[in-house]
Amino acid sequence: MFLSEVRIDVEKTLTVLQIPYKHVGSNFVVRCISGSHVDNNPSLQIDVMTGVFNCPVCHFKGNLSKFVATSLDISTVEAADRLKTQKVDVVDLCDAILRAKQAIRDVGASDEPFKLPSHFQKIKPHHKSFIDYLQERKVSWQMILDYDIRCCFVGRYNYRVVIPIIFGRKCRGFIARDILKKVDRYERGDDYRKYLYPSGMYVGNYIFNYDNLDKTKDVYVVEGVFDVINVVRQGFINCCGMFGTAITDRQTDLLKSLSSLVVISDQDDGGSGMLAKKVIDRLQNNCKISYVTLPIGMDPGSCDDIGTYIRGKVEYKPIPKYTLNDTDIGIIKK
Ligand SMILES: [Zn+2]
Repeated sequence: MFLSEVRIDVEKTLTVLQIPYKHVGSNFVVRCISGSHVDNNPSLQIDVMTGVFNCPVCHFKGNLSKFVATSLDISTVEAADRLKTQKVDVVDLCDAILRAKQAIRDVGASDEPFKLPSHFQKIKPHHKSFIDYLQERKVSWQMILDYDIRCCFVGRYNYRVVIPIIFGRKCRGFIARDILKKVDRYERGDDYRKYLYPSGMYVGNYIFNYDNLDKTKDVYVVEGVFDVINVVRQGFINCCGMFGTAITDRQTDLLKSLSSLVVISDQDDGGSGMLAKKVIDRLQNNCKISYVTLPIGMDPGSCDDIGTYIRGKVEYKPIPKYTLNDTDIGIIKK
């Protein structure tokens, strides 16, 4: 089939873009890429032969170059120019843009600064699907801008929000959080992960929001990125996130330079208070440590009144270890 004089292959285009699709009648059906709604039960239809597409839910429609342009966040004019004037094959165009991503990922394999690929789109006001998802997790529009949170429709990270990990004032990688539920990720089967990181990035090398800490004051230590954002939102800006509870040696060294840690653990069924236990284990001889206990079932990312709980923090006091000295030994000998 032809788009003007350029040969197009719709199925191959979707494959190269790594957009999951189902073949239904004369269409491929994919999750809508307009950004105006979360499409957990895919509705956008693309004609198998012509690449003309239409979403019956939001009426976003157009030809294949518009589809490619929207999904890769390049302008429709640029896409059409490269496809028609420069006679670039649509599959080659997508491939070139995604291959650039591969090169970038290789750079991120070491501790080197990491450049986010261009198809991690800046979230724009019409990306309601991503904005709604983030606002449900207490992330305001301003925080989307402050943390440079992105969205993505193609490739390995399709339908995920992308949160850059800044450390030492440089981007070191990112976390990509699914905006769909596992049950809606039919294409991934058992290989489902709520969070994805770029290959080669070791998250244990970093602490989220560490650059912004005032090391002389109380630092609120939480598990996740969304926990940090929710705590900061409520005015407790001296907050950092450990990306879970498995604290690494490198993270321990970073925490050692802080004078006072206030640990706010998740208080869910599995790991109640786990983060505080880990921090105490590793840092009780280095820092003043206090801990905050949230009600069962709550975590710092869902708590709307974090200040109340922080005011009830309890300082950790190590149980003094009784070590025998010579006199003691003398007494025992008697
Ligand atoms: Zn739609």
